[in-house]
Amino acid sequence: MTVSDFADLGLAQSLARAVRELGYEEPTPVQAQAIPLLLNGSDLLATAQTGTGKTAGFGIPMLQRLSAAKAGKEPRGLVLAPTRELALQIVEELRSLARFTEIRIAAVYGGVGKGQQIRALRAGVDVLVATPGRLLDLMGEGHARLDRISALALDEADRLLDMGFIHDVRRIVNATPGSRQSMLFSATMPKAVMNLAGEMLRKPARVDVSPEEPTVANIRQQALRVAREAKQSTLTQMLREPSVSRAIVFTRTKHRANRVAKALDKSGIAAEAIHGNKTQNARQRALQGFKDNRIWVLVATDIAARGIDVDEVSHVVNFDVPNEVESYVHRIGRTARAGASGVAWSLVDPEEQRDMAAICRYVDRPIEEIDEDLNPVGTFTVGRPRDNRGGNGERRAQSENAKTGSANTGSANRSRRRKPRRRKTRATAPA
Ligand code: AMP
Repeated sequence: MTVSDFADLGLAQSLARAVRELGYEEPTPVQAQAIPLLLNGSDLLATAQTGTGKTAGFGIPMLQRLSAAKAGKEPRGLVLAPTRELALQIVEELRSLARFTEIRIAAVYGGVGKGQQIRALRAGVDVLVATPGRLLDLMGEGHARLDRISALALDEADRLLDMGFIHDVRRIVNATPGSRQSMLFSATMPKAVMNLAGEMLRKPARVDVSPEEPTVANIRQQALRVAREAKQSTLTQMLREPSVSRAIVFTRTKHRANRVAKALDKSGIAAEAIHGNKTQNARQRALQGFKDNRIWVLVATDIAARGIDVDEVSHVVNFDVPNEVESYVHRIGRTARAGASGVAWSLVDPEEQRDMAAICRYVDRPIEEIDEDLNPVGTFTVGRPRDNRGGNGERRAQSENAKTGSANTGSANRSRRRKPRRRKTRATAPA
């Protein structure tokens, strides 16, 4: 069953009210499909990315089923997430949804002291949101018990496995009762994820809201050939463009993220680096500064950026070209949220041509090549350096179009809640 109205989902009054007050007018495709299946008690295997409304997709039924059952001190719902940022985002969303219920929600994650987390667990928790390492620590020390878990959700399972958490995840899953309801959400479904799904899900229903196209339609994708040593000065120049209102710059390593952020800061561009070596507090401060517009450039590594969910990022810059096509798609998806348009720039040095070639083959439409003045000079073709010095009529016309039609990245439409992206959808009943 798929429903197009929250009122038809049979939600408890407290949840229906929270959904209304959050301003959610209708269920997103993943919610429309997943919520009825999960309320029915089915296990679920879902292909869905961040931005589709998946958190409420598993959160609403989990909260509803738990609020109907008797509470104790031990957690009854468990959500595993790969990063602290994602864990915090999930907690925020679940708390908003649960605010007219008695359900207690807490998060445990690494990078901060354990004291507060232990106190929260002692006080009693209904839904625990956790990163695997810290949860195992707390279990080992006797602070967290999972033998009352009746609902288990794995979020961004592909990333959990990419980050090497498979054994931790298995240990955690094995510590929960076999009678639990389980759900697994993943942006992609590689074999390792399918194997894990086979181990932990029982006759799962499937929901697939994978993007219809590999890249979001209203992102303008452009690439610039640049020597490795000229990347920093090129980036500084690019970010000074008036159309750049808020940008995320991606680097391959933490060290480079630090270096790039420092250099930007030195040239008067308010930037912060965000990556796994920073303390949780420093990362949260940086993110908050970005959300509040105190800093307008965030320099991030792929993993740190996984949980970043900020509206109105006008530009994404691939300071380093990612060597996985999926990372490219994920990175550029940080812009053009809330139905806005956005621009993705890639700085391609000669050694990155092969990775860029793979990206060009994968994305659904040609990536434009731009010159150092950011004017389009044609389609980016790997292995054929541009020869546009001086330009020609056609190229000038293109660049004029680019200017007049440039992405509307202003600060209009600053709504707090954005409409998740439209997806191609498919759902099948349990096997
Ligand atoms: P997620 O994919 O769970 O990260 O959700 C993306 C964003 O969509 C979050 O900021 C949610 O608050 C928001 N959201 C979730 N469900 C809805 C809905 N039905 N209508 C509008 N916004 C939603």
